[in-house]
Amino acid sequence: MRLLKRSVQFIIGLILTGGVAVAAIPGPQRAFAPSLFGLTEIAPNIFTDAPDQAADWLSIYERANDRDRQFFGELLATPRYILCTTMTCERTFGKRGNVAQTYGWSYIHIPPLALQNPKIGEILMAHERVHAELVYRWGASALWDKKIPTWFNEGLATLISLDFRVESFYADVPAYSSAQRQAVKSARYFWDWGTVVGTLGWHDAYGAAAENVKILQARIGDEGLRALIARSLNGEDFDEVMIKLASKN
Ligand SMILES: [Zn+2]
Repeated sequence: MRLLKRSVQFIIGLILTGGVAVAAIPGPQRAFAPSLFGLTEIAPNIFTDAPDQAADWLSIYERANDRDRQFFGELLATPRYILCTTMTCERTFGKRGNVAQTYGWSYIHIPPLALQNPKIGEILMAHERVHAELVYRWGASALWDKKIPTWFNEGLATLISLDFRVESFYADVPAYSSAQRQAVKSARYFWDWGTVVGTLGWHDAYGAAAENVKILQARIGDEGLRALIARSLNGEDFDEVMIKLASKN
């Protein structure tokens, strides 16, 4: 029964952003049975094509999770991790862009780029896990509702993961214009994000989204951000709660 529940959760996770196809075709559905495609499980639910470096990968994984625990406390999602060190492995799972990706709360894909550089690896694993933790608390309706707007989801993940690639936003003076910060706020659903990234470029899109969250954090603290998430997932309107919380401080 537990296995069935896990399988159903896993499939829902794939449907959320991936879609399901047969195992013969390269794609994310192969993460359901990674051992069939030459990967080794180096810790519960963590698979890689380079098990000889398991200690390195697990160390990156732990440091990334520590960043997320500082915000969430206990991590609740139990996603499967696929860590690919080669583009051959990437293609096996239907990837070509060398980018990390999260499917619902059940599967986090980590590309070679992240494993070649532990600092990038920490950022990407922490970033993707933030998405998994949010969607776990949200449930399957993350597919169609907009309780948490995508700009906030991406901004929070960028902020918590301490993404130094957009480090200028850590300065006291805003590094992104109000027009850029406003532009990212047009991303309400996850499928809007590609448009924003296409318009602003990935650096400014993630940086401006993170800066929006950082400005909010300066007013309401992490506690306020957690309250905003909880109340929005509980059915209150995100924008209204955000304004209420910010006006109290
Ligand atoms: Zn993201």
